[in-house]
Amino acid sequence: MPASHETRQEIWLCASCKKQISEHLTSGLPYETCGVLQGRADMDGLWIDNFIPIRNAAPDPLHHFSLHPEDWTKACLRGDSLIGLFHSHPHSPPLPSSEDLRQLPLFAGMLGVYLIGSPDGDDGEIELNGYRIRQGSDGGYTLQPAVIRHG
Ligand SMILES: [Zn+2]
Repeated sequence: MPASHETRQEIWLCASCKKQISEHLTSGLPYETCGVLQGRADMDGLWIDNFIPIRNAAPDPLHHFSLHPEDWTKACLRGDSLIGLFHSHPHSPPLPSSEDLRQLPLFAGMLGVYLIGSPDGDDGEIELNGYRIRQGSDGGYTLQPAVIRHG
């Protein structure tokens, strides 16, 4: 049997996207930053080839993010290739928080991938975790850890 299940967990991120995400995260410190990802899904995995920064409209951007409605609408109008959501955790590891999971149903139906980034040292590097958004038989959504590869 081919390792197809394993393969489909992979997220391919273009080098310029990684760089843009790092810069967006770093320039937004100490606040949380967010953005959306464009790309496509196929049998080999999920391919991210564009990052669109979105302003964080949360009243408390130190600890929350909320996609600015104007930016979000513009991103949606850029086509049907929206595939994922990114946001940062400036003060904690890039793991889904209970708030993230609570908000997940707002986006999960239209997206397949969820990225969370955190600063990694003081040199502008980031730690980036990737998750596949899955819908369970009960209709609820979960985040499954995925491998991020750089293409
Ligand atoms: Zn979060």
